[in-house]
Amino acid sequence: MNEEELRLHFEELKKELEGKIDDAQLMRELNTYLNEYRVTPEAAKRGIKRKYGADDSSSFMSADVLSKKIGDLKGTELNVDITAKAVYVDKKQITVRGNPKTIVSGILGDETGTAPFTIWEGENVELEKGAVYVFKNSYTKLWNERVQVNLGSRGRVERAEGVRVDVPERVVTSEPTEVKIGDIREGMGDVTVTGRIMSVEERSITVRGESKTVYSGIIADDSGKIQFSAWNDFGLKEGETICAKNSYIRAWKGIPQLNLGDKCEVSRVDDSFGEISTAVSKKTIADIVAMGGGLDLSVTGTVVDLRTGSGLIWRCPHCNRSVLNGECTTHGRVEAVTDLRMKLILDDGSGAISAVVNRQDTERLTGVTLAAAEGLARARGDSEIVAREMAELIIMRRMTLTGNVMSDDFGPMMIVSDAKIEEVDVTAEAEELYSEVEAAL
Ligand SMILES: [Zn+2]
Repeated sequence: MNEEELRLHFEELKKELEGKIDDAQLMRELNTYLNEYRVTPEAAKRGIKRKYGADDSSSFMSADVLSKKIGDLKGTELNVDITAKAVYVDKKQITVRGNPKTIVSGILGDETGTAPFTIWEGENVELEKGAVYVFKNSYTKLWNERVQVNLGSRGRVERAEGVRVDVPERVVTSEPTEVKIGDIREGMGDVTVTGRIMSVEERSITVRGESKTVYSGIIADDSGKIQFSAWNDFGLKEGETICAKNSYIRAWKGIPQLNLGDKCEVSRVDDSFGEISTAVSKKTIADIVAMGGGLDLSVTGTVVDLRTGSGLIWRCPHCNRSVLNGECTTHGRVEAVTDLRMKLILDDGSGAISAVVNRQDTERLTGVTLAAAEGLARARGDSEIVAREMAELIIMRRMTLTGNVMSDDFGPMMIVSDAKIEEVDVTAEAEELYSEVEAAL
């Protein structure tokens, strides 16, 4: 970033952080974020504001609502009204971070195109297939180069009486495509995958009151690995290599999974993979966003924020969910037990991802133990102090995080199984850059 741009961001931040940080320090921070860590200016400003305690409310955008046709959606709209026909509707129970949730999803269509949609607060929503609705205050995302329409808690769906919408007929082709496991993306249709069965186990599950046997495990090739589920007994054995024709990709608990369904044909093939590495796959955050999740992924980036729900928290002793004021949504009043956790936002310049760090790693990374956190909260009569202390220790640190990534309403989230601080000598370089910038001011 050139000095002129840097100067603009500097001026903007200086105004917002009036008196909370001196000019030299602010310039150093900004420099490190932008030129050293190469995060986006937005992430840099958010991180610095967070670190130095500016009012954060301005970071929530309140864009004006627009009305758009489906064909005009870009996948970046924050607040858009869409009038369209419900071409396909499905109401179902899903589990979001351990909590049951009712969502309504399906396909919306108008004259200009179709788009999948999800209503995340679907409990009291009944949509009729073929009827026309206005999706108010919806937001959009891009997924596999396809725009998705989402209705969050701020959104509303209303029947559009007397409005006629014609959706042109489209022929849906579903030729299975041959893909490498590492290239599998959520939302792909029929695929043909060749891989080695790394593990397989048999489980009994109940589907609509009927007992069914499902065979699941891990399948891998030289590009990656993925969980699979087979709904028929293909006699799969650990170590053999198969070609699964007409399998399909569906997210299970937010992680894309390969499904060998009724249409699937399995054949045994020669194994040309040699040694398959069971190590983690190094990815950029942009890759992970495009994949929609996966197993044992690793990213390196800068911690730009610590989200609420970090620090000292309380959990229900029965279901382990975090509870507020001793009330579990399932178990009512409980003797809650304390725990430590961090919900980080990691930015690597290609994008940002949420990451949940467990107690053990939180203690290791921050040096703040659960006992110390409890003592601190008690001494100050304020449990939020723990998160604030942690924010100071962790924001702007460069880290490599490893874990499984799942996706939901809030985008991709990593459940961290390993976290490592990258010690880089940024100070020397940042100071050098800073003195150059200072000279130019
Ligand atoms: Zn509970």
